[in-house]
Amino acid sequence: MRILIIEDERPLQEQVHTRLRSQGYAVDAASDGHSGLFLGMEYPIDLAVVDLGLPDIGGIEVIKRWRKAGREFPILILTARGRWQDKVEGLEAGADDYLVKPFHLEELLARLRALVRRAKGWSQPVLLCDPVALDTGAQTVTVGGLPIELTAYEYKLLEYLMLHVGEVISKTELTEHLYEEDSDRDSNVLEVLVGRLRRKLDPDRLLNPIETLRGRGYRFRLPRTAA
Ligand code: CA
Repeated sequence: MRILIIEDERPLQEQVHTRLRSQGYAVDAASDGHSGLFLGMEYPIDLAVVDLGLPDIGGIEVIKRWRKAGREFPILILTARGRWQDKVEGLEAGADDYLVKPFHLEELLARLRALVRRAKGWSQPVLLCDPVALDTGAQTVTVGGLPIELTAYEYKLLEYLMLHVGEVISKTELTEHLYEEDSDRDSNVLEVLVGRLRRKLDPDRLLNPIETLRGRGYRFRLPRTAA
């Protein structure tokens, strides 16, 4: 999952950045409206966190321009305490949720996870494609009720594929959403990661949860289980 944060208070930006990365997110950060606007227009991001009070163009304007240009990723705004009008204006400009400063990082993380899920049509925190269940809150995975140990990247890969269950996801798309710009983006790395994830989910090769479509990419094949 790739997250953009636009925040001009450097210590806060760095705190959020560090925390998100420790959770396995790829993070793009900007300290002003212009560069944030650009990143949201040009990068394949999954969600944006936007501070409304920015030194150049304000957060509201950034959001309006993204929405006008057809960018549909979920947006969470950060507002200053006591400025309720900002929340209204932000939501009306196209934001999906807000947090009032100061906030707990845990609350930010919980809201981001919910926004990403809901944007893909999952209303429950547990993504269930029987027998695979991925709990986005606890960040745990079970197969047939038995816990599976995954690394942060394996988890993020599975989460991305399950959020887009049934869709073909190209290697390029996966790489862009899992890794940061400056990281090693060799497609072999992704193939190895997919191979490891498959072995952990399906050691006996009975389920084949992740299909490879030659030249097109991967697809999480098990159907979504109705709640
Ligand atoms: Ca600010």
